[in-house]
Amino acid sequence: MVRVRIHVDGIVQGVGFRPFVYTLARELAVAGFVRNTAAGVVIEAEAPPAVVDAFAAALRSGAPALARIDELRREPIPGTGAGGFEIELSTADGPRRTLISPDTATCVDCLAELADPTDRRHRYPFINCTNCGPRFTIITGVPYDRPATTMAGFPMCADCRREYDDPADRRFHAQPVCCPACGPRLRLVDTAGAELPGEPVNAAADLLLSGAVIAVKGLGGYHLAVDARSEEAVATLRARKHREDKPFAVLLSDLDGVRAWCDVTPAAAELLAGHRRPIVLLPRRPDARLAAALAPGNDHVGVLLPYTPLHHLLAAAVSGPIVLTSGNVSDEPISYLDDEATTRLAGIADAFLLHDRPIRMRTDDSVVRMVRGHPQPVRRSRGYTPEPITLPLSCPRPVLAVGAELKNTFCLARDRQAFVSHHIGDLENFETLRSFIDGIAHFGMLFDITPEVVAYDLHPEYLSTKHAMDLVDVELIGVQHHHAHIASCLADNGEVGPVVGVAYDGTGYGTDGTLWGGEILLADLTGFRRLAHLEPVPLPGGAAAIRAPWRMAAAHLQVAYGEELPVGLEVSGRHEALWGQVLAMAARGVNAPMTSSAGRLFDAVAALTGVRDDVNFEGQAAIELEQCVDLGETGSYPMGARDGLLLGSDLIRAVVDDLGRGVGVPAIAARFHRGLAAATVQAAATAAREHALDTVALSGGVFQNVVLLDLVTDGLEREGLQVLTHEQVPCNDGGISLGQAAVAAAQCSHRP
Ligand code: ZN
Ligand code: ZN
Ligand code: FE
Repeated sequence: MVRVRIHVDGIVQGVGFRPFVYTLARELAVAGFVRNTAAGVVIEAEAPPAVVDAFAAALRSGAPALARIDELRREPIPGTGAGGFEIELSTADGPRRTLISPDTATCVDCLAELADPTDRRHRYPFINCTNCGPRFTIITGVPYDRPATTMAGFPMCADCRREYDDPADRRFHAQPVCCPACGPRLRLVDTAGAELPGEPVNAAADLLLSGAVIAVKGLGGYHLAVDARSEEAVATLRARKHREDKPFAVLLSDLDGVRAWCDVTPAAAELLAGHRRPIVLLPRRPDARLAAALAPGNDHVGVLLPYTPLHHLLAAAVSGPIVLTSGNVSDEPISYLDDEATTRLAGIADAFLLHDRPIRMRTDDSVVRMVRGHPQPVRRSRGYTPEPITLPLSCPRPVLAVGAELKNTFCLARDRQAFVSHHIGDLENFETLRSFIDGIAHFGMLFDITPEVVAYDLHPEYLSTKHAMDLVDVELIGVQHHHAHIASCLADNGEVGPVVGVAYDGTGYGTDGTLWGGEILLADLTGFRRLAHLEPVPLPGGAAAIRAPWRMAAAHLQVAYGEELPVGLEVSGRHEALWGQVLAMAARGVNAPMTSSAGRLFDAVAALTGVRDDVNFEGQAAIELEQCVDLGETGSYPMGARDGLLLGSDLIRAVVDDLGRGVGVPAIAARFHRGLAAATVQAAATAAREHALDTVALSGGVFQNVVLLDLVTDGLEREGLQVLTHEQVPCNDGGISLGQAAVAAAQCSHRP
């Protein structure tokens, strides 16, 4: 007989790991115990040596689906001779190193019970077990036990307690376990808070089908729901939410439902139906009878399948597509507290489908799109956070990276683990800033990380940067925005560089005080050099130019033609009143900071071609220009390079010439994309040769443009180069915090 102590690190709490160990030990006649600790799970096992080996091997190979074992360490200890195997109570001593499971979609066993009229949880909207249910959104402390969740206020009934205490039961130590007798309760109330008659789910479904807007309390916050087939209901929701064109996501009850509306590849189906359940962006079928107002000017639609029992019940009751969008007004963060939600959403929702299980962490739905057959995150949130991303090098000191201003996430890192937060949002109002600060404190507590190093963006006006500047007793490391994008792509791929990095985005603060955004860098995690960039143009009116692509058309024309502006352009005719003033602003550089932004070049072309003059959400003009592209077009605009500048003015003149010849917008859009891609490939390949590198990393929000991404990737691969793109975090500013953390880790570890 030998006795060993086995330490298991990873996601091993709240995922049915201890019952699995218990059952395995009993099967193999291993004596000892298993126990949750603040650092993970510890097991003591006593048996003949061969049995102990088999037991340890099976811990890895047979672990429950939701478990993630990062490390398994064994140490011999003296035997005790005691028989039997027990699950011991948790201890909270020692450093907290355990991981927390993301929220997980309802499992098939729970779904079967939900549909079974003889089951005591038949149609119970809060059914869950160790394999599924809420986790991150309800955890208030560690170790993960019921008192440290928002289920603390629901004492278990005798039946639930029996399941909870039985190691052979699927609900053994499932912390959120509950039933109609003891758990949270659903209510449907009107805007005055008065309960509406009828069974809440069915009554809510009836209201939806009659055209009402319903606020539904979900896992990480409130959603607003309407019937997705009703043009009128969707228009009402847009008007009340002050959301003009930004697409809405649609909830469907099952995969067959999705196939009726969208083209679904097998990989997309797997993602839709998997346990993370993000919104997946899919090409919408031409015959799909969805309201046009759902995603104006967009040939894709965001679709998701139910991920909580409540969503399953609601989708089945409506038996058709339901718009499910964040419960907020325009760009405010999603509501998650009951009082606040009923107040803030009172002018939008006609009724509220509520429950009394509190939400601790506000978490939006994640958004993923399929690129070249692989999932690529657009927004990484519910179902993914707080699972750590493994850094390519170890971080010698605990790091906080505060992220960017828009699409903010923050990141806490220690050793090789980077905990990238859920999507916080745009840090431009008090509510979002509050959830940013609360989120950092919460992550610090959950993962026991007290930052000693704080990484921030160089932009002095970002609220995240200002927050970093206010912190005391920490070392501050400024990370240039586009370096952070490339570092993020490196960390995402487990690489340290050096590589050639292509960072194309809206704008980010450059080391020379101008706004960058079309950058070719030589970069590794520690530092970077700016090798080439798009030809700078003025941003006439600053932030106003970002909302008005026609201003960028004026600025780009001014740079391309100087005094000799072409006459008869439609864009100038459409903005006669301000056109001269904006041109003058651009020419004199008054209130017109210079920018090498790739995003603003797309804006200029979108306005020149009449695709879009003004935007009401980020990236709108570029998205619509991309969707115009004639994929069969083989022509391309020449784009020169001189002294480290990629000459956008060449592209602008070519667009103007084609417009003058009466060439159609789909061909112009295609030639523009192809021209920019070819020049990018050329510049990156030249840089790679000069610096003897074989890898190019692509990052920045502009690479959400699939046409551009495809052209650049194919071109670089034809040059024999390896291409890195994002798989774990978004290429947009949602990925910045990971890049900042990786840079801070690299800089700290390269010091004596
Ligand atoms: Zn389950
Ligand atoms: Zn119960
Ligand atoms: Fe950016």
